[in-house]
Amino acid sequence: MASTIAVPETAQPSTAPLPQGSAPFESWGRYPVYNANVVPLHWQSDYPAVAAKLHNGTLPVGMGRSYGDVCLLKGGNLLLTTAMNRLIDFDPETGILTAESGITLAQILDFAVPRGFFLPVTPGTKYVTLGGAIANDIHGKNHEVAGSFGNHVPCFELVRSDGTRRLCSATENPDWFAATIGGMGLTGLITWAQLRLKPIVSRLIDYEGIQFHGLDEFLAIKEQYKHVEYTVSWIDCVSTGKNFARGVFMAGDHSKVPGPLPQSPEPKLVLPFDLPGFVLNSTTVSMFNTAFFHKQIKSHVKTLQDYEPFFYPLDKVLHWNRGYGKNGLLQFQYAIPWEHAKEGTIAILKEIAKSGLASFLAVLKAFGDIPSIGMMSFPLAGIMLALDFPIKANVSFPLMQRLGDMTREYGGRLYSAKDACMTPEQFRAFYPNWQDFARYRDPAFTSSYWERVTGEIPTV
Ligand SMILES: Cc1cc2nc3c(=O)[nH]c(=O)nc-3n(C[C@H](O)[C@H](O)[C@H](O)COP(=O)(O)OP(=O)(O)OC[C@H]3O[C@@H](n4cnc5c(N)ncnc54)[C@H](O)[C@@H]3O)c2cc1C
Repeated sequence: MASTIAVPETAQPSTAPLPQGSAPFESWGRYPVYNANVVPLHWQSDYPAVAAKLHNGTLPVGMGRSYGDVCLLKGGNLLLTTAMNRLIDFDPETGILTAESGITLAQILDFAVPRGFFLPVTPGTKYVTLGGAIANDIHGKNHEVAGSFGNHVPCFELVRSDGTRRLCSATENPDWFAATIGGMGLTGLITWAQLRLKPIVSRLIDYEGIQFHGLDEFLAIKEQYKHVEYTVSWIDCVSTGKNFARGVFMAGDHSKVPGPLPQSPEPKLVLPFDLPGFVLNSTTVSMFNTAFFHKQIKSHVKTLQDYEPFFYPLDKVLHWNRGYGKNGLLQFQYAIPWEHAKEGTIAILKEIAKSGLASFLAVLKAFGDIPSIGMMSFPLAGIMLALDFPIKANVSFPLMQRLGDMTREYGGRLYSAKDACMTPEQFRAFYPNWQDFARYRDPAFTSSYWERVTGEIPTV
């Protein structure tokens, strides 16, 4: 039996112009690009009324910060949530914030930081919506101690195409709760959600950066820094020989010394046009990697750093994805369980270095063992690697296929939020309970990702 709760709509919708009608909709990787009918939602009550006359399937979308086609629907209808972005309630006693699903994490931070609160889990960009963060059950630098985003969501409302409104939590409609966290927008529209924020007393992060050479050193440092909340490493995926798998391990905790808590300034830098594809080649990337590695001249640095450059270094330049040129980029992101994590990572890093295609944006991290709530969530205890590849016809796609197969051999999985290449065979191996999940899919909802990985012919 579906349950409902009344939620007041408190503020006015955003007045910013929104894309509307049939238009190409780009995800962050800019590949693939499909035309879709963009339908902006302003009020929680807009859906399903706005969709009454729509055909060819529907998919909710937020900021389009996923890389591949999980937020795309070729020739279908995209329910754009970003104008449905009101804060509804905040309880400073519990830290529980209630907001509409189109609010961005940047907007939440603007509200929360001056009040002494921070996000419980944050990805490498703050320009994602609350709904998108739940639907991909995103992870951050604190996965080992905090789990993924869904672990901090007490409840949300899910609206289905037949108009049913369900309150979902660990105790109310728990199966819908588990299907929708990490459910890639396929179970219905999340209209609003709660998020448990955590207290902070300063914007500053106690930061340490430590150089490592090879995976053994990375794993040893990781053990040593178990007590630190946030850890992530940059890794050089281009160098071979004595520089193979060199990197910088970055660790940080929120400072415990009280300090000012102003809002962040707006970013000023925008990459206004596409760079030609040749700007990123093996020589420029190798130069960048050497410069980055030696940027920390000492092999170990300790400093205080504002949370913006620590969590969101890439947000400093809006639309940095244009740096890959019009062709766009592919992101490869895997998690491999501890049992095979080291050998799998070494084998994959060698394959990547051999390709000469890797970019400088490569991240290595350990995932912890806090179970995700979502049926289709990505994290698993082990090693996670993420990196971008420029798209080069005849080279990038076969490489992605090989790397996906290797991930499968080592018992790992790829991240749907970043994927544009996974084959149906790989998908079935990575997400073996996908058929159970499919029972919760809204019959009117689908995505280009879902159609690709299930081999499903659109029927809606
Ligand atoms: C620079 C950068 C760094 C990143 N770092 C990380 C990281 O560290 N960790 C990580 O996990 N991810 C990371 N990501 C990926 C990003 O966090 C996720 O793809 C996130 O889900 C994007 O949110 P969005 O609002 O842009 O959603 P979109 O990309 O628009 O949509 C994502 C999914 O959410 C669904 N959805 C959106 N809104 C709703 C709704 N209201 N109801 C139901 N379903 C909905 C969509 O259907 C789609 O399946 C990064 C992305 C970028 C660009």
